[in-house]
Amino acid sequence: MFTDTHCHLTYLAGRGIDAASVIRELADKKVPFVLDSGTRSNDLKERIDFINGITASVQDSSLKERAASMLRFGAGIWPDKEAIADRFLHMDVLREQIELCDEKRLCAIGECGFDRHWNTDDADEEGERELFDMQLELARELELPLIVHSRDAFEQTLAGIKNAGEKKGVLHCYSYGVEQARAFLDEGWYISLSGSVTYAKKAQISETEKLVRFIPADRLLLETDAPYLAPVPFRGKPNTPLLIEHTYRFVANIRGLSTEELAAAVLQNARRLFGS
Ligand SMILES: [Zn+2]
Repeated sequence: MFTDTHCHLTYLAGRGIDAASVIRELADKKVPFVLDSGTRSNDLKERIDFINGITASVQDSSLKERAASMLRFGAGIWPDKEAIADRFLHMDVLREQIELCDEKRLCAIGECGFDRHWNTDDADEEGERELFDMQLELARELELPLIVHSRDAFEQTLAGIKNAGEKKGVLHCYSYGVEQARAFLDEGWYISLSGSVTYAKKAQISETEKLVRFIPADRLLLETDAPYLAPVPFRGKPNTPLLIEHTYRFVANIRGLSTEELAAAVLQNARRLFGS
């Protein structure tokens, strides 16, 4: 079944979706791996409690076990203005949360990164880079990969991860082209495609296809970023990890694979990168 390497399960309720029934259905479908990404310094504990509350309420014991074991967590600080301004305080909080939770399913630091779409003219670029570097350092200390958010910020992101040396990670919800992908792949990083690849208009379709074909089979991940970016034919509706099969179909079709072959490759990649 279909791995989802990046979603936000605690945000589903805000879009009118019952996360408990989504998680039960994922477990019922034997989905092997779902990664819930962090965005705020203090959200790890509340996300773990939320998921544990749902899995505890599952009656059937094998379903309960599957629900608990498919879920993984990232913990990180999204680069909004407030987080950048108070970055040292937020890093202390993030470290405390990780220590406090002592969660074996924590498998990545992130999402963190660079956003030139929301952080425009008066952005504190140095602060943004520092917040990123501190999370990179934390990932190195904990020997965890990094989940990187990068929007309209290719140069900053590439410079940031080049600092990473041996460190590995993923460019989540990848939004650049083939040449930029080559630069990230050369650094040893993974590329994760979201439902937004299914949005390509006629004029962009050949670019999208080129990108989808270009990413090596052992570096490709797929994600929903739920509740955002629902794939076609659900574009504009709230997204859940259950809808990811439409993205798998789209990508498998372009790469000339069956969805099962693609699902097996993505799962293997997710387990290799996230170490579980
Ligand atoms: Zn996200």
